Amino acid sequence: MNTFRILVVDDEIDFQETIVNRLKKRNLHAIGVASGEDAIQALEDELYDVVLLDIKMPGGMDGIETLREIKRIQPLVEVLLLTGHASVETSIEGMKQGAFDYLIKPVKFDDLLNKMAQAFQKKAAHDSKIRDAKIQELIRYPSRVFGQEEEDGKDF
Ligand SMILES: [Mg+2]
Repeated sequence: MNTFRILVVDDEIDFQETIVNRLKKRNLHAIGVASGEDAIQALEDELYDVVLLDIKMPGGMDGIETLREIKRIQPLVEVLLLTGHASVETSIEGMKQGAFDYLIKPVKFDDLLNKMAQAFQKKAAHDSKIRDAKIQELIRYPSRVFGQEEEDGKDF
């Protein structure tokens, strides 16, 4: 089975690297970036299952703006927000914008793994529904899926 792919987006480099390393130790595919812009670039290059996204980041794109872009580029990716006590309101806004859940810093790694497992579960269930729907379409309308060749109706 392919491992789950996680993108960690946080401008606090120490925190970001610690999380990425601990995820890697658990054989998860984790990549860290430090800005919204870099997160968007990473998502344009590769598919991810879960994005761990810091709400407070300096520079051009804040967390909510980044979240909107993430959902536009990869609508099926599950986003877990990282927030401070002072920005819980922003996290609520983020959940309205399609984030899966949020975690308040400082984060216990066990809590992070727990929420991540829930996000993977949701993503996997969603992916499998889409796969099933595609299989149903394939069975009912093979030519719609594979394309129609002129010779398909002829005996051979
Ligand atoms: Mg930050």
